[in-house]
Amino acid sequence: MNTLQNYLSGRWQAGGGEGTALLDPVLGTQIARVSSAGLDLADGFAFARETGGAALRALTYRERAGLLASIGKVLQANRDAYYDIATANSGTTRKDSGVDIDGAIFTLGQYARWGDALGDVRALADGTPARMSKEPVFQSQHILVPTRGVALFINAFNFPAWGLWEKAAPALLSGVPVIVKPATATAWLTQRMVQDVVEAGILPAGALSVVCGSSQGLMDALKPFDVVSFTGSADTAAIIRSHPAVARLSVRANIEADSLNSALLLPDAAPGTPAFDLLVAEVAREMTVKSGQKCTAIRRILVPAAHYDAVAQAIAAKLARTTVGNPRNESVRMGSLVSREQLDNVKAGLAELRRQTDVLHDGAAAPLVDADPAIAACIGPVLLGTRSPRTADRVHEIEVFGPVATLMPYDDLDDAYGLIRRGEGSLVASVYSADAAGIADAALALADSHGRVHAISPDVASVQTGHGNVMPMSLHGGPGRAGGGEELGGLRALGFYHRRSAVQAEAAVIEALAAASTPFGR
Ligand code: NAP
Repeated sequence: MNTLQNYLSGRWQAGGGEGTALLDPVLGTQIARVSSAGLDLADGFAFARETGGAALRALTYRERAGLLASIGKVLQANRDAYYDIATANSGTTRKDSGVDIDGAIFTLGQYARWGDALGDVRALADGTPARMSKEPVFQSQHILVPTRGVALFINAFNFPAWGLWEKAAPALLSGVPVIVKPATATAWLTQRMVQDVVEAGILPAGALSVVCGSSQGLMDALKPFDVVSFTGSADTAAIIRSHPAVARLSVRANIEADSLNSALLLPDAAPGTPAFDLLVAEVAREMTVKSGQKCTAIRRILVPAAHYDAVAQAIAAKLARTTVGNPRNESVRMGSLVSREQLDNVKAGLAELRRQTDVLHDGAAAPLVDADPAIAACIGPVLLGTRSPRTADRVHEIEVFGPVATLMPYDDLDDAYGLIRRGEGSLVASVYSADAAGIADAALALADSHGRVHAISPDVASVQTGHGNVMPMSLHGGPGRAGGGEELGGLRALGFYHRRSAVQAEAAVIEALAAASTPFGR
């Protein structure tokens, strides 16, 4: 059995004891083991902080951008192996694995390009100088410099590739060393990518570490200038937030938690219009890509009351064509959930939602292709619906992390916005219409409760990037229940890994700072 090694303190290390087995979620077979037991985390974090941090900070943004480009090449060269690992460990079809693997490579490439444009400096200028008195000689200039700590990433199981690199790209570009702890269930792909990058000798010692297995002790190893970026459930997020490292040492924490994302059909998009068809296609796609295991997936669909039945029938007709089962079989369009445990969670969530909803399409009982229902973590898509979305409170509270969404009618747009806000803060809402002014109004109404508003109109149908696809140009994160975090958004992501300081000095000093920094172009 392949026991995945941890990379810490600049060397490969095995954890002690039995560890935890990683399983193929379709075949139920063991494929690897992980253990972090007995690792000297304090030493590993100190090595990353001191050796890795110093080496990265000695480089300029442009030089660090070059490292990202080299990492991208290594990942590209090993891409086939990553697809095989994803099939075996995540149970995803090739197309769905691509969202994770190619999404990671694309994001690295973007930050490599953006970083190159920051030039050969080691600091960023935030804003322009401000006069501190009547005379212009004494001024204030805000600067951004990399934090002298580590970036600890505690990641969720659904994006073992992208989840690492969408965070590591801005961190490494900022000059901050990375320690990643992948979710145990799918740790193999993260570990293998780190191994390939380490073996390629691209990064300075201590710049990239991986700890697989239990999270025990990781938060205790953090020091005041470190940052932690967490992606996962709201319950674990609460543990992270209340840990003394965050609560007492002011370790900066970014939280990406669960989210009840919405799709909103505007009143102009009646059945038969292109915008109507675009909503139907997007909902069906979002429900089935990665078996609905995307934090950004559409969970609630809001449509004008008069179109409820037409939307239900159209989405159900699309979902009925989804073949589910072993992703190794080419006829399969949707693979498995990540584990039997997740299958149990999805079934439990479905049972809870069904108490307040009707089943509009039930793929859960459909036969699997090439997979044993007693072993495989597979479940077909289920479309639920309620005509009483104001009283069906559970549909605004329970995130079923699988191929499940709930359709609901609205009376007018204020009603729709009110229902959407009952998600208490989400990652993304998508809006479907051919009315540009109407879309703009909806975007303004939804912006305060969503990190991203994705508008799909007929004019962008063939080029729009998808409701649930997280692109590095746009913000990823959401207020309230979604965790309150912010990732990506172009160079905005660098802010998390930098410290802002106001330098108050005579004009000559401010000029010297300007020469040593690049304006932080947002
Ligand atoms: P989870 O159980 O909270 O686990 C997330 C990570 O936290 C894993 O690496 C886990 O390690 C680790 N962990 C568990 N207990 C911990 C503790 N006490 N201290 C420190 N780390 C701990 O979440 P999940 O079930 O893997 O992920 C599914 C959830 O993530 C969904 O709700 C989904 O919406 C959310 N999600 C959000 C985003 C986003 O960007 N907003 C993206 C993806 C997923 P082990 O695996 O070893 O337990």
